[in-house]
Amino acid sequence: MAVIRDVMPAFQLYQPSSVADAQKLLEQNGHDALVLAGGLDSMDWLKDRIKKPKAVVDLGGIDELKGVHETPDGVEIGAMTTLTDVAQNPIIRQKYGLLAQAAELVASPQIRNQGTIGGNVSQDTRCWYYRAGWPCYRAEGNICYADTPVGRNREHAILHAERCVAVNPSDTAPACIALDAKLVVLTPKGQQVMDAEDYFVGPDLDITRMNILRPGYLLTAIRVPSTWAGAEFYFEKIRDRNVWDFPLMNVASAMRSSGDTIQDIRIAVNAVAARPLRLKMVEDSVRGKPRNTTTGEGAGNLAVQGAVPLQFNAYKIPLMRNLVKRAISRVEEAAWAS
Ligand SMILES: Cc1cc2nc3c(=O)[nH]c(=O)nc-3n(C[C@H](O)[C@H](O)[C@H](O)COP(=O)(O)OP(=O)(O)OC[C@H]3O[C@@H](n4cnc5c(N)ncnc54)[C@H](O)[C@@H]3O)c2cc1C
Ligand code: SF4
Repeated sequence: MAVIRDVMPAFQLYQPSSVADAQKLLEQNGHDALVLAGGLDSMDWLKDRIKKPKAVVDLGGIDELKGVHETPDGVEIGAMTTLTDVAQNPIIRQKYGLLAQAAELVASPQIRNQGTIGGNVSQDTRCWYYRAGWPCYRAEGNICYADTPVGRNREHAILHAERCVAVNPSDTAPACIALDAKLVVLTPKGQQVMDAEDYFVGPDLDITRMNILRPGYLLTAIRVPSTWAGAEFYFEKIRDRNVWDFPLMNVASAMRSSGDTIQDIRIAVNAVAARPLRLKMVEDSVRGKPRNTTTGEGAGNLAVQGAVPLQFNAYKIPLMRNLVKRAISRVEEAAWAS
């Protein structure tokens, strides 16, 4: 294994204690700044000497970015709330169990104690070529090393790939989309509140980013509206090692039904494309239908329409079909409501 012998480039470390100070620092340092949340993704880039920011803005001392607060129309989760705190919060477990379940299936207890919900939805792709510093499209080069006949692409995309075939690896992102969460972002031009699905960016829009964050931007909170509180939830994550691992794929759904009839549903999958995908066509196709295997199979087939496998990830097509089918036809009962 190659050994890096040069020292990590120096940077100025800022540890603001308020959002206002953090925002000021981010605006002042622009492209030269890196936001540090739990550090599980961001520190890798520094330690591998791939990103060399001049300034690191550590959000760890900003108490106003931490915690879960019930609001008149839902719940607001500070971006710096740890995944453990999200998974264990009584309100989230009782009303929005989908998010508790997704957070609890992230990585290992140690990583969940350190990693934040804001960092989890904002993390970069895990494509090894890119993470190792290879000059691919996403790194502003002119080749995709994963999308070749011998490229290591078992974990990569089957949908919406455009030059880059990397996937978004977040477990909590599809749960946020299924719950119709809103993300609150401070930008140099003011606050933006956006639907979770609009926070994420595919390579067609910008190949170098996975979300809307630009220099000077700060994600402050995730708001989960009460619309889907107490709905029937389904979250399933498939990974190589069940003890802890990134998802090969996951699915998250929130459903309201009357008897056996599906009244309304939101469903999203991740690790199939560079951004988590809300499956609107599937939602439209199952509303008013009985919640059974036939409806689930139809939904699964619809979900994979247009999927294009790479050399080593054809398994993802039946996997996605089956995850969607199960989410529609076999919603788990309130295991997360205690
Ligand atoms: C070994 C390992 C296994 C993992 N397994 C999984 C898994 O199974 N499932 C899963 O979903 N994740 C997994 N992760 C990711 C992990 O859970 C973290 O959530 C994630 O890496 C980032 O969270 P963080 O708080 O450490 O953020 P950081 O690493 O500090 O930040 C991540 C990115 O978001 C930006 N950022 C963070 N917060 C903000 C903010 N408030 N405003 C603006 N920008 C911000 C940072 O600049 C950085 O670019 C794993 C990570 C590791 C190291
Ligand atoms: S999949 Fe994307 S990130 Fe990976 S090598 Fe190809 S262009 Fe780079």
